[in-house]
Amino acid sequence: MKIIDLRSDTVTLPTSEMREAMAKAKVGDDVYGEDATVNQLQEKAAEMLGKEAGLFLPSGTMGNLAAVLSHCGRGDEVILGNKAHIFLYEAGGISALGGVHSHQLQNQDDGKLLLEDIEENIRWNDTHEPVTRLIALENTHNRCGGSVLPLDYTNKVGDFSKEHGISLHLDGARIFNAAAALSSSAKELASPFDSVTFCLSKGLSAPVGSVLCGSREFITKAHRLRKQLGGGMRQAGILAAAGIVALDKMANRLGEDHARAWKLAKGLASVSGLVLDEGTPHTNMIFMNLAEHIEYSADKVAAHMHKAHGIRIGVTGKHRFRMVLHYWIDDEAVEKTVAAFKELLG
Ligand SMILES: *Cc1c(COP(=O)(O)O)cnc(C)c1O
Repeated sequence: MKIIDLRSDTVTLPTSEMREAMAKAKVGDDVYGEDATVNQLQEKAAEMLGKEAGLFLPSGTMGNLAAVLSHCGRGDEVILGNKAHIFLYEAGGISALGGVHSHQLQNQDDGKLLLEDIEENIRWNDTHEPVTRLIALENTHNRCGGSVLPLDYTNKVGDFSKEHGISLHLDGARIFNAAAALSSSAKELASPFDSVTFCLSKGLSAPVGSVLCGSREFITKAHRLRKQLGGGMRQAGILAAAGIVALDKMANRLGEDHARAWKLAKGLASVSGLVLDEGTPHTNMIFMNLAEHIEYSADKVAAHMHKAHGIRIGVTGKHRFRMVLHYWIDDEAVEKTVAAFKELLG
């Protein structure tokens, strides 16, 4: 049975073009800065994001960690959302390893932090308080349903942070999804930020890695931190080669995943046992609950779909699911999924 894996876009396998590029990659010792393929990926990523330099890292988590630790010293604080990936899902690394205080503000449903909340919560130089060095946003916003931050909003936060001399970081794990949704470019979206992390291993389908981009001075600092965190890799060009294919071939096709997400959402909305989140999907993610009259739990439904149809879905609550579209989900998979849910839940 062909598996239809809708749990996440992290499940994407590398394409055969990526595997070929990996086999042929020119490599060297990247800790010495001698891996031509890593260097090429870093330059390409920096150019696409409109920054001076880039740094290849094993994961988005390490990218965000190196970024926060570059911007903040021990006892400084970062303002971020209470639904931010950095706050929720990165094992508390910024505090555990960097001694950086996280100052959480309420995320709005659309992923924003209200500018007036940020303004009210900045802390300067009172002996009793940590100093606010950094504001971190997320785009697209994972826990807020894959929502997209509009450009006028991020530009405003950018102006604000410059005015106040506070750095601004973007967890742009899915920045290319955001760019597709806004019919804009990653460069334009990244422009208000001092630093940006994005993932190669999600919708872009590369097997491993993230790139952190920023000024040359910032990346020099982050480079030392990467070593300190144990992320200095040697012949990493094998991995970076897939990342280059990802940027060349995948970054501009994500609109297709969004169109299929709409198609899948429309099909599932006609299933009486499912209630889709309003306004969903924003990008490539669909969130839904089981209707009240359904007696099964989300776990049960997921187990049945896996066993009977080879369809894997993300369970995010007792009655709640997530489905994520990506390169390996085609129209046929969308139709099959809708049919399977109709059969089980009306
Ligand atoms: C996946 C993700 C990360 C972390 O990436 P890993 O490579 O899994 O460590 C960071 N931020 C967001 C918003 C993500 O979705």
